Amino acid sequence: MRKAVLVSLDAFFTADVPRLDPEGFLARMIREGAFCRRVETIFPALTYPIHVTMITGCDPDRTGVGQNQPPQPDTPKKERVWYWERKYIRVPTLFDAVREAGGQSCSILWPVGCKNPAVRWCLPEVHPLKGENATLKALKFGTPGYLLMGEKRFGKLRRGIAEPWLSDYAAAMGMDTVRRHRPDFSAIHLIDLDAIRHRYGTFSPEAMEALKRNDRRLEMLWQAMQETPGMEDALLIAVSDHGQEDIRKTVNLTEKIKQLGTGRQVFVQSNGMSACFFAGKDGCENPGKLIALLETHREELGISRIYTRKELDAMHAVDGPLFAVEAAEGIAFSDWLDEEKREAATHGFGPGREADLCLFTIYGKGIRQGAEIESMQMRDVGPTIAGLMGLHLPEANGKDLSGEFLCS
Ligand SMILES: [Zn+2]
Repeated sequence: MRKAVLVSLDAFFTADVPRLDPEGFLARMIREGAFCRRVETIFPALTYPIHVTMITGCDPDRTGVGQNQPPQPDTPKKERVWYWERKYIRVPTLFDAVREAGGQSCSILWPVGCKNPAVRWCLPEVHPLKGENATLKALKFGTPGYLLMGEKRFGKLRRGIAEPWLSDYAAAMGMDTVRRHRPDFSAIHLIDLDAIRHRYGTFSPEAMEALKRNDRRLEMLWQAMQETPGMEDALLIAVSDHGQEDIRKTVNLTEKIKQLGTGRQVFVQSNGMSACFFAGKDGCENPGKLIALLETHREELGISRIYTRKELDAMHAVDGPLFAVEAAEGIAFSDWLDEEKREAATHGFGPGREADLCLFTIYGKGIRQGAEIESMQMRDVGPTIAGLMGLHLPEANGKDLSGEFLCS
């Protein structure tokens, strides 16, 4: 098995490529490695389902993870769990393929990566809910010995889970794990840019600083790989999940829908620039009628388009929602952020937007320098990484494009 270090640069997208520092490490990876600058993401463009699609090679209709959180209509908004645990994924992941081949993996803040028996070293992507202790929860969801050791060495880099410090911590943990354990597969999720974009805007000066920080983290990881015997030939792979778009208005769809007199027919789960509609307590016998009602209030609700169940199926969206809506430009749906507390930018949109296009780039020995694939689907990422490592994802519906990137 060929070793690989996979780094996900959350919220990095194609429009960032011309904005990269030409002397920076990511520009160098693109120049000297192989890449695809048009990886079309899934609907809705949300971090958790996309990372699951990346690591399984399957669309959400196969993975079962189609949003960040399972629908929890009876739980107060801030007490709802996320899809933190591996158990939610219905198909094998790259971590399973590595373990089956006798290898060991590390997962650093990788979404839907907690409590994963196929992972040897896990820094869990999880947050405490009301009344929970952050440390105890992390120990329960990750690898306790690994976490305690990491905290002792790098704890001073972290300020709770605030960015950009959390990504500095994740990168330090990644480098240390590479040096100490030489994992066969490392999956590292850097959230810095996503958090900064939400807060300050898509192309804000703060976001441009975050791009530079990610450059430095990638370079430091590469350095650690080069300095570690047994890791020099590993591949460094950078991927991203979605871009962001600036917003000027937030709509609380749950409240608005109630005002239209829909009662308990539906439960709305807002996902930034889209929202999913599930059958509510009273059931929804005629979704078509509700869709027609939404159509007539489209403008006031900030809806740009409605996806029927049939259309969601054609997009390989997850099962469950009766239908979904996408927000108009500059509008975000939120069940918990009101207009005053709105974010500067967000994601969660559907296909065809500029921020839908992501990056996939590979760096290391044996990679065809300058090789570029014009376009890929997000589901192709997992099988391609598996192919590069000499592994196979048996249930993936994405394509293994590794042959295009390797020297013949
Ligand atoms: Zn993300």
